[in-house]
Amino acid sequence: MADAGVESKHFLSDKVEHFTESVIREMTRQAILYGAVNLAQGFPDFPAPAEIKRAAQDAVAADVNQYAITWGAKNLRQAIARQMKEWQGIPVDPETQITVCCGSTEAMISTLLAVCNRGDEVVIFEPFYENYGPDAVLSGAKPMFVKLRPPLSADGEWTFDEQELRAAFHSHTKAIILNTPNNPTGKVFTRTELELIRDLCVEFNVLAITDEIYEHILYDGTQHISIAGLDGMQERTVTINGLSKSYSVTGWRVGWAVGPPEITNAIRKVHDFLTVGAPAPLQEAGAAALALPGSYYQNLAKGYCARRDRLVPALTGAGFHCFRPRGAYYVMTDISSFGFANDLEFTKHLVKEIGVAAVPGSSFYNDPRDGAQQVRFAFCKRDETLDEAARRLQRLRTP
Ligand code: GLN
Repeated sequence: MADAGVESKHFLSDKVEHFTESVIREMTRQAILYGAVNLAQGFPDFPAPAEIKRAAQDAVAADVNQYAITWGAKNLRQAIARQMKEWQGIPVDPETQITVCCGSTEAMISTLLAVCNRGDEVVIFEPFYENYGPDAVLSGAKPMFVKLRPPLSADGEWTFDEQELRAAFHSHTKAIILNTPNNPTGKVFTRTELELIRDLCVEFNVLAITDEIYEHILYDGTQHISIAGLDGMQERTVTINGLSKSYSVTGWRVGWAVGPPEITNAIRKVHDFLTVGAPAPLQEAGAAALALPGSYYQNLAKGYCARRDRLVPALTGAGFHCFRPRGAYYVMTDISSFGFANDLEFTKHLVKEIGVAAVPGSSFYNDPRDGAQQVRFAFCKRDETLDEAARRLQRLRTP
């Protein structure tokens, strides 16, 4: 019970005052409350591959039930190194360059805590995955936002202004956070764009922290390029990835950070005291997952492409303007045609009256006004789920 004499706010850290709860997770709770189709939080509603579930069951049965090595089970680290070499041509030493964490979420915050000092600046493209802002605050750094501008034509790409990006780099800039393929825009950064970012990182002596969790989810012939593979970047890049999206196991919480040995050493120390280690049996299953054949990834991308092509026409037909994603499993939309005051009003109406949950665009921007006419839908769902959402969305046309 609250003691009238104590102002409980006194007990709170200033840090938590600077950010709100996750809107994405809140929308999932609202979807449950109103019985809505959940196209908000990005998690698949279809089964994970049978062979990796079996590998997890086998590991539990074989009593791989105690702590793994703090920075990750050896066979998972070896599999990660093998995959980075195979997919991106990047040589990685599993003994000194990899830290397995509780999801890529922990990999990102552990990396930022390991490299940032108070007063450092971190450059972030916006719209951005909502964790990056609070991550920067928790690590004492100041986020500096650079706009990704929506495509002007139906077939165009999200772009950034070179001068605007350059202007965000200063003597206090410690890192730039990249996310390609990008959540929420679906942008896949091109080699030319990454080279431009590389040149700035080298010129200003800045680290690239790159979240590549959607690396295998690509459409329309786009290619995923890891910035760590560009000349001059291996010694100044931390690459973050995980099992969640490539193997449809978002609840397993297994991710990793790959970086130069000295930075890895620091990340491992933070990770050790934050969480000790990621779930041991699921790391074993992770090693099995990373051994899946190339055809697995082709089918994964094909499946998501079909889902994109199922949802986008339904959204367009219901009155949304869709920014066609080239990768990842989200579609950002413009909601101006509906005439709502803002994205929050719209998503509230959508979840309560229409029965579909989506994420308000403002949760991906520093200034909520920038996302006030945007809404994100996730399409990592079964055909039946997408069709039911499509059916309900038609009600937007006939109030
Ligand atoms: N990355 C997913 C999304 O953007 C899930 C976020 C989360 O809740 N961790 O929806």
